[in-house]
Amino acid sequence: MAEAKTNLLGMPRAALRSFFAGIGEKPYRAEQVMRWIYRAKVTDIDAMTDISRSLRSHLGEIADVRVPEFSAGTQSSDGVVKWLAHTEHGQAVETVLIPDASVGWEEGNLDGTTKRRNTLCISSQVGCSLDCSFCATGKQGFNGNLTRAEIVGQVWQAGRELAVRGDDRGITNVVFMGMGEPLLNFEPVLDATDILMDDLAFGISKRRVTISTAGVVPRIRDLASHTDVSLAVSLHAPRDELRDILVPLNRRYPIAELLDACRHYLRRLGDRRSITMEYTLIDGVNDSVADAQDLAQLLTGLRAKVNLIPFNPFPEDRNGYRRPDPKRIASFQSGLLNAGIATMLRTTRGDEIGAACGQLTGTVHDRTRRRMRYLARDAVSMQTRMVP
Ligand code: SAH
Repeated sequence: MAEAKTNLLGMPRAALRSFFAGIGEKPYRAEQVMRWIYRAKVTDIDAMTDISRSLRSHLGEIADVRVPEFSAGTQSSDGVVKWLAHTEHGQAVETVLIPDASVGWEEGNLDGTTKRRNTLCISSQVGCSLDCSFCATGKQGFNGNLTRAEIVGQVWQAGRELAVRGDDRGITNVVFMGMGEPLLNFEPVLDATDILMDDLAFGISKRRVTISTAGVVPRIRDLASHTDVSLAVSLHAPRDELRDILVPLNRRYPIAELLDACRHYLRRLGDRRSITMEYTLIDGVNDSVADAQDLAQLLTGLRAKVNLIPFNPFPEDRNGYRRPDPKRIASFQSGLLNAGIATMLRTTRGDEIGAACGQLTGTVHDRTRRRMRYLARDAVSMQTRMVP
């Protein structure tokens, strides 16, 4: 079988330079190729005309630029667009464009001179292995990691879609809040952040690239030794016994250890930046005033801001979770604000097309058979109910 060609998409500049050195070429070819791929959006090596014909022909034999196919986007009335990005293994993940919004907290943008933004929410895995109780992605099971090309390709494709629509701002912010747990696909995610920030590629500042994690403690520490992109942590509960249920990963890495890892990462971020704590509000589960007080106490002294996300319902939910009413949400938020914790409420967007937080499912061939187990459990409980 012919060996797969090296995909140049998503390869960090340093790796691309070594790649060229390895085939006896000048390392600066890397910069030339990057301009073609990311600036000119050219994927055909033969069209990279400032490279000699003979090198193009040699390069074409060993390498290519493979971008994941995007399905036609679905647009919601609030401007959110959702695409399916197809992987090389015949599966699909979801990518969501949120125009004029920053998901999470964008520092340096609170001075009233807010520029228009195009935030892209990207996936890092096909499905997710963590199975948080309130998230649709987990219910699909897990079927592997995306490659760095499949991660970067989502931004590349969305950028091209924007250009086609005549929007020349391009993607201004990227959040790893789509399907998957980015820190469980560490190297490819790290390579992708490298390219997102590289001036010859997307040139997005580290403050506008956000990795969101359910709390893979050792990987948060590893992250600090590699990068200082923005970090969001899916906290969702102020106490272990509750978080154990909502985010099962908590049984392995409880809250105290998670916050220690956050302190470690904060040292890397320096004095002026903070971590975002995401908190999905579920009616009667984690949204009481007492929960807000516990949360405030937990976060006091930590450079953290809270991002409240009202629960987004999804069909596979078997817990009967509901979004709290606006009054309950408001009192939770004021509980935190009164305790001096910077807190913002994320507006729900894209929910009518299933593109809101926690609603992304893609097309996952479930290796874990988790979806089957959920269906089986339903069948059993239905039978039980039908027994007189
Ligand atoms: N695995 C990563 C990134 C994906 S989730 C993480 O856990 O951070 C992105 C955000 O959406 C997380 O904060 C997640 O907890 C939240 N979320 C998941 N399901 C949700 C739902 N049904 N309603 C609202 N927010 C949800």
